Amino acid sequence: MSKTFSLYKQATNQWQKAADFFELDRDVRTILSEPKNEVSINFPVRMDNHELRLFRGHRIQHNNILGPFKGGIRFHPMVNHDEVKALAVWMTFKCALVGVPFGGAKGGVTVDPGELSAGELMRLTRRFTHALGGNIGPEYDIPAPDAGTNAKTMAIMMDTFMNAQSATNRNAQRHVVTGKTLTVGGSLGRDKATGQGVVYVLKAWAKEHNFDLKGAKFAVQGYGNVGFHAAHILEKEGAILVAVQDHTGSISNLKGIDAQALKTFNLSGNPITSFEKVEVISNQDFFKLPIDILIPAALEGQIHKDNAHDIQAKVIAEGANGPTTSEGEDILNQKGVVILPDLLANAGGVTVSYFEWAQNKTSSQWSLEAVDKRLLEMMNQAYAHTSEVAKDMKTDLRTASYIAALKRISYAYQERGIFP
Ligand code: GLU
Repeated sequence: MSKTFSLYKQATNQWQKAADFFELDRDVRTILSEPKNEVSINFPVRMDNHELRLFRGHRIQHNNILGPFKGGIRFHPMVNHDEVKALAVWMTFKCALVGVPFGGAKGGVTVDPGELSAGELMRLTRRFTHALGGNIGPEYDIPAPDAGTNAKTMAIMMDTFMNAQSATNRNAQRHVVTGKTLTVGGSLGRDKATGQGVVYVLKAWAKEHNFDLKGAKFAVQGYGNVGFHAAHILEKEGAILVAVQDHTGSISNLKGIDAQALKTFNLSGNPITSFEKVEVISNQDFFKLPIDILIPAALEGQIHKDNAHDIQAKVIAEGANGPTTSEGEDILNQKGVVILPDLLANAGGVTVSYFEWAQNKTSSQWSLEAVDKRLLEMMNQAYAHTSEVAKDMKTDLRTASYIAALKRISYAYQERGIFP
């Protein structure tokens, strides 16, 4: 990737290509061309050695015509303003595509959470949340986990936000974040939701194309929340996990890798590369393996012009946001590799976030069966709609997903009118 590469530009090009397909209203195009609000914060955190260290964080709110801003908070050393802007744009279209009543936002702090102690991480999370102040709120902008954050981070964010409210109002605020731990108001099924959604979309595509998931070989890039759950659930469909890549390296075993055993091993502090009965391979060779399905579930820009040619998979299900560069995508399209695009394939997370938000607002708790059933309905609907648009407009699924989302947003502007 060149030094001038902008992820935000990539995201903008993607939706503008779709906008050209159906002549999106010019006013709506103008409004969507930049985020509504961009907050950048430098905030100090007291480290364990008593020194103060300055961190930089962002919250970028792209659009809220369909409902409150919504999107994750990322803790990662590569977090930067351009990246968060792109991720916020993707949230706008993702929420619109699946039909959850939210707009799009994203946040992040440039930090390697693995280098911080639990206490430092707690202070960083609290200080960042406090600095965001009224820029987030249960009916205004609702964060959730993303790379480097989890249910515990959300519990701390919620607690910090609540403590800044008047005592009588505190408990009415718990839906200020989603993806919380169950005890503090999280939803059953939220933890696995993104991975579950990836598999629901794969199943919908497989059914439409008579593709047998049983015995299909798949590889997963990234073995965090999304990668693990997608692998674990896909395994139950009879597919075989044959390779995994994470930040420590790549492993493969064409006879199969036990997804749960690998996760348990990894969670006890061992790198995946020390797992038993696997071959350690190079990161380049990972992309050359004879597989049927590839699930990128790490960061953006992982499939690009230098490895797209090597990919043998028939279908790529994008568990991550923006894992494929535009150049990589052109190569895959030429080769006839199907891409189940991020807006669709990884929308299970924000969909169950919506369920959590709704449960908090009504002080109720849905059963896991109810969550899964509703998630399946919504993912199936989103897949069917995207596939229909792709056929009607004779385009790929990514462009179709943007067309479907843009139409919803554009109708909302038409019906509400543009203020003043
Ligand atoms: N961070 C997740 C995403 O990129 C989840 C967002 C949410 O639940 O609000 O979709």
